[in-house]
Amino acid sequence: MDLKGKIAIVTGSSKGIGMAIIQELARCGANVVVSGRNLERIKQVQNEVEKIGAEAIAVAADVSDLEQASNLVNKTLEKWERVDILVNNAGITRDNLIMRMSAEDWNEVLQTNLTGAFNCIKSVTRQMMKQRGGCIINITSVVGLMGNAGQANYAASKAGIIGLTKSVARELCSRSITCNAVAPGYIETEMTGRLDEKIKENLKLQIPLGRIGSVGDVAKVVAFLASENASYITGQVINVDGGLLIG
Ligand code: NDP
Repeated sequence: MDLKGKIAIVTGSSKGIGMAIIQELARCGANVVVSGRNLERIKQVQNEVEKIGAEAIAVAADVSDLEQASNLVNKTLEKWERVDILVNNAGITRDNLIMRMSAEDWNEVLQTNLTGAFNCIKSVTRQMMKQRGGCIINITSVVGLMGNAGQANYAASKAGIIGLTKSVARELCSRSITCNAVAPGYIETEMTGRLDEKIKENLKLQIPLGRIGSVGDVAKVVAFLASENASYITGQVINVDGGLLIG
C-alpha cells in the first residue's frame, strides 16, 4: 500500500494491534502520531517507528476525555497542518457476568471504547471536511456482531461502534471522507497470550482457517482501507477473523 506523505493518528498505538497498525502505516510511507495514556511507552514506539524511516510524534491522550482527544488532533495539526487517517483502536475490557457487572465497569468500557471513538471523530471532522478528504477506521470486534457471555459492556461498545461507523460514513461522504470498521476475531496479543493452551486449541477448532490471527493480519487490512485502493469503500465492517463469522 502506498501511503506516502499521508498523516495518520492511531489511538492506543503503544502496544498490541495499535502498535502493529502504526508500524504498518509507517512502512507504507505515512507519517504517524503515536498515542496512548503512557508517555514513556509511546515515546519508545515513536523511536521504533522512526527507525522504519517515518516521521513520528508521540502525544499522550486519554481518548475518553474530549479535551484530550481534541488536543491530540491539535498537536497533529501544529506539526503537519493536516490529518488524513484516523484509526480509533484504543480499547479496554472489564469482563464480568451481567449480574455481577458494576455500573463503573459498564461506564468505563463504554466511555473508552465508544465515546473515545466519538471524541476523536468529532475532533478530526472539521479538518477533514476542510481538506475535502480523509479516512476514518474504527476497530470493533466480532464480539460486537455476535455477543459474548461475560462481555455485555464490551459487546455493546463494539456494536455501538458499528452504528457510529455507518452514520459517520453517511454524514461525511459528500466531502469524500470514508469511515469503515474492522472487526478482528481472536488475535494473538498479550490478552490471548495468557490463555491456557487447551483453551487456545479449542478456539482454533472454531476458526475455519484453523489458526488464531496475528496483529499483522489486522494491520494489513487497516493499511488497505487507509489507501487509495479502498477509496470506493465506506460504511463497511470488514471481519478479520479467519472465517469465524461466516454466515
Ligand atoms: P491492548 O490492551 O494490547 O492495547 C490497548 C491500547 O489502547 C494500548 O495502547 C492502551 O495504551 C490504549 N488505551 C487503553 N485505554 C485508553 C484510553 N482511555 N485512551 C487512550 N488509549 C487507551 O489491546 P489489543 O491490541 O488487544 O486491542 C486493540 C483494539 O482491538 C481494541 O479496541 C480491542 O477491543 C480490539 N480487539 C482486540 C482483539 C484481540 O483479540 N486482541 C479482538 C477484537 C478486537 P495505554 O494503556 O497506555 O493507554
